[in-house]
Amino acid sequence: MFLEQLERASLHLGDLAPLLETLRHPKRVLIVDVPVRMDDGRLLHFEGYRAQHSLARGPGKGGVRFHPGVNLSEVIALAGLMTVKNAVIGVPFGGAKGGVRVDPRALSRSELERLVRRYTSEIGVMIGPDRDIPAPDVGTDERVMAWMMDTYSVNAGRTVTGVVTGKPLALGGSRGRREATGRGVFIAGRSAALHLGLAIKDARVAIQGLGNVGGAAAACFHTAGAKIVSVQTSAGAYFNPQGFDPSVLAGLRAGGRSVGEHPGTETLAADAFWDVESEFLIPAALENQIDEAVARRLKTRVVVEGANGPTTPAADDVLAGRGVQVIPDVLANAGGVLVSYFEWVQDTTSYYWSEDEVNSKLDRLMAEAFTAVWDAAQASKLSLRTAAFVLACRRVLQARELRGLYP
Ligand code: NAD
Repeated sequence: MFLEQLERASLHLGDLAPLLETLRHPKRVLIVDVPVRMDDGRLLHFEGYRAQHSLARGPGKGGVRFHPGVNLSEVIALAGLMTVKNAVIGVPFGGAKGGVRVDPRALSRSELERLVRRYTSEIGVMIGPDRDIPAPDVGTDERVMAWMMDTYSVNAGRTVTGVVTGKPLALGGSRGRREATGRGVFIAGRSAALHLGLAIKDARVAIQGLGNVGGAAAACFHTAGAKIVSVQTSAGAYFNPQGFDPSVLAGLRAGGRSVGEHPGTETLAADAFWDVESEFLIPAALENQIDEAVARRLKTRVVVEGANGPTTPAADDVLAGRGVQVIPDVLANAGGVLVSYFEWVQDTTSYYWSEDEVNSKLDRLMAEAFTAVWDAAQASKLSLRTAAFVLACRRVLQARELRGLYP
C-alpha cells in the first residue's frame, strides 16, 4: 500500500520524480532476537525490529508496536509512512518504526518489562535523541516508554530523557501528549467540516478502536457536541442512537467491563459497524480495515484516519467515486508525532510548557498542515492522500537532493 501510494504521487513530482527511488527502500533495518525469561522459568524468544526509512530531514521518529501480527514488511511500511507524515506536518524528523511480534497482554508485568528492556538494549545501536526517537504505538504505552528511557540511560551512563517520547510527565513527558493523536484527529475532522460545510454539533461519529487514539478522538468530538453513535473494539460492535458518553466508556473499559453496558446501547454483529450511518467515520484500530467491499457499504461523509493505513488504495478509489472524503493517516493522525516533537524540544531545552501552550500549538500547526494539503489537492485535482504524499515527497526529496550523494 505504501509503495502504491508513492507511485500515485510520482506523477506529480516534476523534476524530483527521478529521486523517488530513494523512498522505495528503507535506509536501514535491524532484526533482533529478544530472549525473555518467563515467570515460570521458560526461556522464550521474540522477534523484534527497528527500521529507519529516511533520515534525510532529521533523526528517525516513529512508534514501537507490540502485536502478534508484527512483521518486517509491516514495520518498514509504517516507517515509510512516518517519513511522509513527519514531512507533511513539517517536523524536522525522518521516518522510523519498530516492533516486537508478541501479544503484550499475554505477558505478566515483569515479563513485559524484561522484554522491553532487552528489546531496547538490542536496538540501542540505532536509537538516540539525535539519531532515532521511538514513541508508543499499538500495544505500548507511557510505562513502556519509561522502561525504554531508563534502559537506554543505564547503558549510556547518564539520564537521556529525549531518547523516546510519550513518556510519563515525571520523566520529561509533555503535557497533552497522551491525547495528542486523538485531538489531532478531531482538529483534522473539524477542518474538513469547515471546508465541506458540515456542522460538528450533532454530527454522528462512528469509531473503530477505543484505545489511545480512538478514546481521545471520541472525547474531543463529544465535547464539541457531536454524537458518538457507534463503536467497534476487538470485543465487538455497539450502537447507541443517543450517543455514547466517552467518560462513561473510559470508566467501563478501565474496570474491564463491556462497552455494551453503557446505557441505551445495542450490541451489533461486529461487521454491521460498517453499515451504521454517520457524518464522520474514524478507523482508529489497525490497518487494512476498509477494503473495496467495505468502502462500497460505508454510509458516511468523511473518513478521518486515526489508524495508520486503514484504507486500501482500491478502497480509496471506491470512496472517491462515491464522494466520501478521506482525511489520510499521514495528516489526520499526525497530532501525536507533532506533540512528540514538542516533547523532544522540551527535553532538549529542559524547559517545559503548559498544556494550553501545547494544545494551542498543536491546533495551529495541524490546521495549517490541513489547509496546505487541502489547497494542494484542490489546485492539482488530487485526493487529499496523494496531495499529502506529493507535498511530503517534495520536502524529503529536496532535502535529499541538497545533501547530495556520498561518496
Ligand atoms: P491502542 O492499542 O491504544 O488501541 C487499539 C484499539 O483498537 C483498542 O481499542 C482495540 O480494542 C481496538 N482493536 C484492536 N483490534 C481490533 C479489531 N480487530 N477490530 C476492532 N477494534 C480493534 O492503539 P492506539 O495507540 O490507539 O493506535 C491505534 C492506531 O492508531 C494504530 O494504527 C496506530 O498505528 C495509530 N496511531 C497511533 C498513534 C499514537 O499516538 N498512539 C499515533 C499515530 C497513529
